Formats: sequence, C-alpha cells, structure tokens
Amino acid sequence: MKRGFLNTPKAQKQLLQGTNTTSAATQPAQGSYKYGVLPEAELALPKDYKPLARPTEGPDVVTLKYGSNEYIYATLPPVPPGTKYSDFLGGGYSECWISDHIKRTIEATPNFPTLPLTPTGGKAYRIAKAGDKGLGMFATRLIRAGDLIIDERPLIVVPASSIALEGVLSYLANKYTPDQRLRIMLHEKDRCMELAYNKLDPERKKAFMALFNCHSRDGSGEFMGRVRTNGIGIDGEKLRDKDTTGDVGRYSAVCDEISRINHSCCPNTVYHWHTDTFSVRVFAVRDIPTGAEITLKYCNIMAPAAERAAALDRYGINPCACSVSCSDPARAKIADERRARLKTRSMLVPPSTPEDPEDAWVQPAVKQLRELEEEGLQASDEYYHALGGLLVPYLFLQNVDKVLFYAKKLEALSKARDNLKNFEPLYLSREGMKTTESWKVVGRMPKSTRKTASGWLLFLQSYIAQRRTSM
Ligand SMILES: [Zn+2]
Repeated sequence: MKRGFLNTPKAQKQLLQGTNTTSAATQPAQGSYKYGVLPEAELALPKDYKPLARPTEGPDVVTLKYGSNEYIYATLPPVPPGTKYSDFLGGGYSECWISDHIKRTIEATPNFPTLPLTPTGGKAYRIAKAGDKGLGMFATRLIRAGDLIIDERPLIVVPASSIALEGVLSYLANKYTPDQRLRIMLHEKDRCMELAYNKLDPERKKAFMALFNCHSRDGSGEFMGRVRTNGIGIDGEKLRDKDTTGDVGRYSAVCDEISRINHSCCPNTVYHWHTDTFSVRVFAVRDIPTGAEITLKYCNIMAPAAERAAALDRYGINPCACSVSCSDPARAKIADERRARLKTRSMLVPPSTPEDPEDAWVQPAVKQLRELEEEGLQASDEYYHALGGLLVPYLFLQNVDKVLFYAKKLEALSKARDNLKNFEPLYLSREGMKTTESWKVVGRMPKSTRKTASGWLLFLQSYIAQRRTSM
C-alpha cells in the first residue's frame, strides 16, 4: 500500500455507505457486503483497475498513512524478533492490522500485557465434530454459570469496517459504480488481511486456514472471507479508531478456538474483549452439562425468528437448527410472541389487600424470569435486568431466602458479563444483607408503611440512590 494518498471527507463519506459492519458490540463482526453466490461478472474486478502496490515489510513493517489515523501491522503483545510461537511462554500473541491510534491505546492500557486468565479447575472443553455445523466446542465436565471457559489471544485482529481503506481508495469514488467500488474494496481489504496472515507462524497459519469460509463465492477472498465468517466483534467502547462512532472504526478478532464456537439462539455463553490481557474471554451464563455444546450468539437473540434467520444467513447458517424455536415454524411463532412479551418489564406495585400472600405482586416478574430461562435467554440483557429487578422487591420484603437465591444467580451472571463491580456481595449472606442500607431503610420505616405501595416507593428511591446492583 502506498503512503500518502489524498483523502477528502466527502469521498470518505461516499465510500462508507454500504461498507460498514452491522454487528452489535457483543456479536461477531460481519460486513454489510453482499454474500452468497455472486455471478462471475460481478466478481470480476473492473478491467482498468490496477491493484494498489502491495506493501513491503520494513522495520516498521507497513504504514498506511491517511488523515488522522495511520494503519500499521503489529505483533501484539510485542515479542522479540525471530520469536517462534511455540517457544513463546507469554500466553501467545496476535498479528494485527490496526491504526496507530489503536496501537497506542493498547500500549497505554494499564497492566498491558497481562497474561490471559486460566479457568478455575482447568480446561473444560474440547473441539469436536458438531454434525452439519462442522466443528464445535463441547463441555468435558459440568461448567457452572459464571465460570470462565476460555481466555484466548486471537490469531489476528483486523478492522471490522473499511475505514482503514476508504481514505486510501477515495480516489475511486467518481471513477467506478458503487458495486465496482465495493468489489475493489473487498479485494484490497483481503490483501491487507493477507499481510497480517503472512506474519503468522506456520502452525497458526494452518489454524486460520482450517476455519470455515462461508464467503468463498462472493468476492471476499480467502482471508476476508474467513474474517467475515469467524470474526468476533471487539466492543467499540474498548477499542475503536479515533473520531469514529457506531460500527465504523471497530475491530474484529479471529481466534483459533473461540472462533469454533457455534451459534445458538439460546446460547449458554457470552464473550467480551479485554485489552489488558489482549484476549477474548468466554463465560457460561447458565450451567452447561458434560458433553453439551458450548454456544454463542451471532445475532440479536431477542429478535423474531425471521429476523434472526436473515442475520444468520450471512454466517452460512441456513436454516438455524439450534432449537425447536428455530426449526419448527409453529413453535417459532409461539417463541416469537414470547420473546416480544419478555422484552417488556413488569411494573411491580405492592397490593393494598393485606390478605394476599406478601409477595403476590412480585409474581409477574418471577414468571418473566422463569420464561426467559425456559427459552434459554440467559445471555440477553433482558434476563440480566429481570434478575436484578427481582432482588429489589425481596430486599424490600426482607425475604432472606429469596434474596440469597436471586443474589447467587445475579453474582454468577455479573461474573459472566464482566460486571461484578456493580454487584453487592453483601447480599450473598444472611448477616451481610442485614448490614446494607437497603435493609436498614426498611427497618427505619414505621410498621404501617412496610410492605405497602407507599413504603415500596420510598424504598425504591433510597435503593436507586445508593445501589450498586444494576436493576
Ligand atoms: Zn436458532
């Protein structure tokens, strides 16, 4: 890639249209490029297009300069020259095609590079055949909700959107049709990814090429196709190019083992990126029995079946056979209605009739949580909020057993979601919960107010003011 291509904001904007990714922060990265089997004519590059000069590897390896961002190839964490992957004891390393801004962000991250975490109890999975889905990851022992399953440094980290090339290719804006520009963009992006791939050790190259490519007939190429099929979207809150928003400027990580985890619309794990360890962590959101497949979501699991199917088609998943909610149209219709209903939280207000059981008014929320569990939606934000929302009324009612029950579940889920800092550990013991302000505030209420609607409102005000648990 040549240095110093001119780049105008207008040209960049034109090229951005239709080329950024559509993935949400916690879903694997996908592009909005075309997919499937494209006709030969569409796959050909314009006859007069001359591919850009291939960058050569120098001391700074490669520098693509444009605007405020400069794109480089880097090994992260850095390793001494000539290091062999198999001899490296520091938790592995990744080949990256990133902006200089990102590299500086990573290097300035406190404690970078800390070693990836080791799961308590050791390795609990194996990679094995998963029927029509190719390979998959399976539990080799019981994995508990909240347990870390794997913390892995990626093979490669590359831009998920095309901003890295849009500046460089901006001169194409007036010369070619939008389709031709997309085709060129894919071609050039594939070449840039090939460079990151070329820096991998032979074993890691083999691992990358062994990954499935469902984009082999849409012009993505060997490298870009595998990134589109297997890339894990890195949370834009944690890493993104300078002055970018939304899906533009985000990154995608391709892993050797985590990229083997198949999709489910009722997944049993969630993942998140950690810059200090430069790794992707996968946690269980519910208990996973021995032998069960470990799964992740590749789409919005709260969306209706048809919407999920459209999103999954891009990953070569067609049809999704994760559960009867996907494979049986009649059940899918019921599950869709349930999902839609489960997105709305119940408003809880204590009854004025004292003859009702004291927690009768909490039951709609108990039922909602149970239904979310029956649908296997523990990986959804809705489940997390439903669980947090149940702890509060039982604290108000000072029902010790129920507080313990929900606090234990919430602790595991908070661990899985990397959100333990918002969890109040005092709720995990009878003695502890009685020392919290939430408990004391009820104690200070006159008896006539406790367990009433007005007492509940007072309690909520106080709880919200001092909460550490996310509701
Ligand atoms: Zn499904």
